[in-house]
Amino acid sequence: MAAQNSAPPVYKVDTGGRKLVALTFDDGPDPLYTKQILDVLSKYHVKATFFVIGRNARLHPELLFSEIAQGHKVENHTTTHPDLPQCSREEVAREITETDKIIRDLTHRPPHYFRPPKKLFNQAILDVAAHNGYKTVLWSVCVENRSCKTPEEMALRVINRAEPGIIILAHDGNLDRSKTVAALPIIINAYQEAGYTFVTLDELLAAGQ
Ligand SMILES: [Zn+2]
Repeated sequence: MAAQNSAPPVYKVDTGGRKLVALTFDDGPDPLYTKQILDVLSKYHVKATFFVIGRNARLHPELLFSEIAQGHKVENHTTTHPDLPQCSREEVAREITETDKIIRDLTHRPPHYFRPPKKLFNQAILDVAAHNGYKTVLWSVCVENRSCKTPEEMALRVINRAEPGIIILAHDGNLDRSKTVAALPIIINAYQEAGYTFVTLDELLAAGQ
């Protein structure tokens, strides 16, 4: 076994000023919101990255098929969305490897990125992810924020954070995401008008310096 002290998580990417950003979605797939979000992404020709929960993927494989068919990428957000620091090393490994298998079986593509639920992690969790072939990726700014009451406020906060190489997090499951669905077109439109291109995490990391 490799004695590795795995790399810290990725929060943003140094693209050398190229105006690339990644839009990522956690906690789906969800029968109500994932489809609405896919429709928005399709309308604006945006490719995104979905960090799915394995048990949701198992319940709604057709949504993973839609994500892949529309050119998006599917990545690993555990099987049951637990607080990983409360789990044993074996449980952490199982959370990652079960969902790895679910994604491979459904999409015929190996996932590359892991995102721990609620940003809860420690070095041991990063090491288990790395041991299973994953780079841990977090985010620069989150669309959903307690201080924002309306989709317009949510959007403005994310628009004000625009910068090459950032990773934007939004959610397509778990709670009522109707405000997220309404905020997305405002965000996407503003970024595109400012000359940004939305790329998948694969592409953003490949553009890294
Ligand atoms: Zn989550």
